[in-house]
Amino acid sequence: MKSKWYLFIMVLVLSTILVACGSDSEEASGDSGDSGETYTVATDNNFVPFEFMNEETGEMEGFDIDLIKAIAEEAGFNVEIESMKFDGVVAGMQSGRYDIGIAGMTITEERKETIDFSDPYYDAGLMLAVSADNEEIKSADDLTGKKVGTRSGTTSEAYIKENHPDAELITFPGIVEAYMDLEAGRLDAVMYDVPNVQYYVANDSEGLKTAGDILQGEQYGIAFPKDSELVEDVNEALQTLIDNGTYDDIYEKWFGERKYGTESSE
Ligand code: GLN
Repeated sequence: MKSKWYLFIMVLVLSTILVACGSDSEEASGDSGDSGETYTVATDNNFVPFEFMNEETGEMEGFDIDLIKAIAEEAGFNVEIESMKFDGVVAGMQSGRYDIGIAGMTITEERKETIDFSDPYYDAGLMLAVSADNEEIKSADDLTGKKVGTRSGTTSEAYIKENHPDAELITFPGIVEAYMDLEAGRLDAVMYDVPNVQYYVANDSEGLKTAGDILQGEQYGIAFPKDSELVEDVNEALQTLIDNGTYDDIYEKWFGERKYGTESSE
């Protein structure tokens, strides 16, 4: 009798330890308890302030990271975040390798042929960055013959090819490499997403400024492999977070007062 109880308690203790270890190793989980499914989330390795590596903690941080964790908590699942180059996120959705992709990814008709998107969660667009002392490039009309850098596989690359075939387009795997070449004077301009250009110019750059207006309106969506059953749950959770103010809290944390954000504006 005694040994039976002993065995029972041992099994209980052991399984508790196992469960605890299991959820601990779920790096960057949505903290949604230990009952829900765990989904893999592909994100971009460097797209400030939506996702980037905090060098001190070694963890991915940013608006998208906070948002997907809040969505996971609301919808009752866990997330395991993996960062990669932007085109890897797109490819990872097409192949179904990851369950969810969040990477400041613009919803486009072309991508919608091979990827599913959530409802839009952020209003963005494209903009130019130039050297602070550049008086020549005041808008995209001044790009003829100029060296314009951007990141491969993105909406900016497509935009330049289509609208500025007379500019010299140079693409980089990471957008920070393009900014650094601009700072070093090897490029005349960089075209990229408005929030990223503005954030980089204000916080991370040496001697850059923005030039001209927003060139093309865009909206970001959370991505899924085609016909994913998660789309509905994620949309529902996203709407709840917009309605209950959580979205606004996350927005303010990364952007301050809403300037060109989604839904309500001040
Ligand atoms: N929004 C851009 C696109 O979808 C770039 C996003 C990014 O670099 N993460 O093409």
